Amino acid sequence: MRSDLLIVGAGPVGLSTAFALAESGLSCLVVPASPTDQRPGLPKEVEVTAPAVDWLQPGLVNRLQARSRRLWMEWMVRLAQETGVDLGYSRLGLLLMGQAVAAAPDELDPVWEQVMPAHCEPRLSCAELHGLFNRSFSQVRHDRLTHSLRLALRTRGVPLLDDHHAAAIDITGNVAPGVYLEDESYLQADAIILAAEGDNSQLLYDSSLEALDLPSPRAHHLLFNPGSQLLKHVVGTDDLVLVPQPDGRLLVIDTDSADHYGSEDEALDMLLTRAANRLPALSRFDLQYHWLAPLPGHEGGRPMLGLYPHLRNLWVNAGHFRNGLDIAPAMAELLAEHLQGGPGFPSLAVSLSSRD
Ligand SMILES: Cc1cc2nc3c(=O)[nH]c(=O)nc-3n(C[C@H](O)[C@H](O)[C@H](O)COP(=O)(O)OP(=O)(O)OC[C@H]3O[C@@H](n4cnc5c(N)ncnc54)[C@H](O)[C@@H]3O)c2cc1C
Repeated sequence: MRSDLLIVGAGPVGLSTAFALAESGLSCLVVPASPTDQRPGLPKEVEVTAPAVDWLQPGLVNRLQARSRRLWMEWMVRLAQETGVDLGYSRLGLLLMGQAVAAAPDELDPVWEQVMPAHCEPRLSCAELHGLFNRSFSQVRHDRLTHSLRLALRTRGVPLLDDHHAAAIDITGNVAPGVYLEDESYLQADAIILAAEGDNSQLLYDSSLEALDLPSPRAHHLLFNPGSQLLKHVVGTDDLVLVPQPDGRLLVIDTDSADHYGSEDEALDMLLTRAANRLPALSRFDLQYHWLAPLPGHEGGRPMLGLYPHLRNLWVNAGHFRNGLDIAPAMAELLAEHLQGGPGFPSLAVSLSSRD
């Protein structure tokens, strides 16, 4: 089989890339590893949310997020109309506490309101008297979003080769003429776009290519099922993010990398204690699920979008850290524009672990 552009990976980034390319009239094909493309290690139907706090991240990420926000609003309306999928959009609001509040600039965007955390979320145990609340902070259902992107791509005639897995990229000189699949079939393409995030490194390794210059810290996640909503809003503290789920469960994310601790068990014990200290009601409920998720990327830093060094047609869209959903459309649109003769994006250039 042959295609103009072959995208490896069908998470939010690969699917958004395919959507933006299809919107620009470019022909592409997507090789996803699985038909559902659930994020690795994540229980189905659980929403994770990483609060984006603009004064704590580089301007580049803020600009990508702002561009993406406009695009998501546009895309979501169209996706819902075209595919009939309810994306589960909800305005949960975000309560921010701790150092992020202390570090806030004097001139704050008016989306942030000064609040007393204990008034906003009475079940929290908080010594903090000052918090910031963003009532427009919202969430969509990740699984529904990727499902509806898949449906929209199919109606645009974009093939998704479900259950196919890219085993290695074929490299001849400075060109990548195609990809070998696990079943040993071969896909030829004019250009290949690598969008498999956590799995990019394995694919590069299996293709005898140098790894990307991306750390891959892991974060602990705890899922509790209290049976009713303990919190109304997403809460971001110095060391935890608490994310109420639409079905009453509560997700607790450790914002400190698990790799900082001596052992996984030690990290888990400490996290359980910290979570119960912050939300004492949690100590009454058993942990339903625990997992470690990789977050490839530089903390708060720049993602990568560009050509793999020394190769003429292998593109990389990676390193989204906690922002894959937040910045996917902007990254996808930048690439689509560039492939049609638009400007490059040197500030997102791809670098290798050998510091090429
Ligand atoms: C705990 C946590 C919280 C997060 N919170 C947020 C948030 O609030 N907002 C936000 O924007 N982002 C958030 N993120 C980050 C976001 O989930 C990721 O940045 C995003 O999923 C990256 O999307 P992706 O498509 O690049 O990769 P993935 O979602 O990892 O998808 C990669 C896809 O590639 C496929 N694949 C892998 N290898 C191959 C192969 N060899 N051949 C073919 N296909 C392959 C996989 O099956 C997978 O579907 C969070 C992440 C975590 C872990």
